[in-house]
Amino acid sequence: MDRLRKCSRCGAENRIPARHLAHVGKCGSCKAELPPTSEPIEVDGPEFDRIVSESPVPVLVDFWADWCGPCRMAAPEVHHVARDLAGRALVLKVDTERSPELAARYNVRGIPNFAVFRGGRLVHQQAGLVNRNVMRSWIERAA
Ligand SMILES: [Zn+2]
Repeated sequence: MDRLRKCSRCGAENRIPARHLAHVGKCGSCKAELPPTSEPIEVDGPEFDRIVSESPVPVLVDFWADWCGPCRMAAPEVHHVARDLAGRALVLKVDTERSPELAARYNVRGIPNFAVFRGGRLVHQQAGLVNRNVMRSWIERAA
């Protein structure tokens, strides 16, 4: 499944393949520029695999759950990172209740738990609440 990106000029929905999520695109309808993804993307297992393996930029993954208080505190930090690093990194959110197989694959026991991937490879993983500056430093080190 490709992600849809709405054109801010003409409103057309454009399909964005996983490998181009961090790239500037062009609206298929009016040719206006489509900015890179600047928000966390909620993913399930298949989409997680596709984005992590195809992304040309580092991918930060936030493993979280609705009932987790520290996860809610981390959410705005994660949003900031997605916006600040638009075009240079992608941010995924994995709901560990909906995708327990992903949580198991990466040994996620306590949440929030963060993982950074580069070229499909896990390069950093850490549990516990951190702020946006710490998240940025992981991504910058991975890039
Ligand atoms: Zn357009």
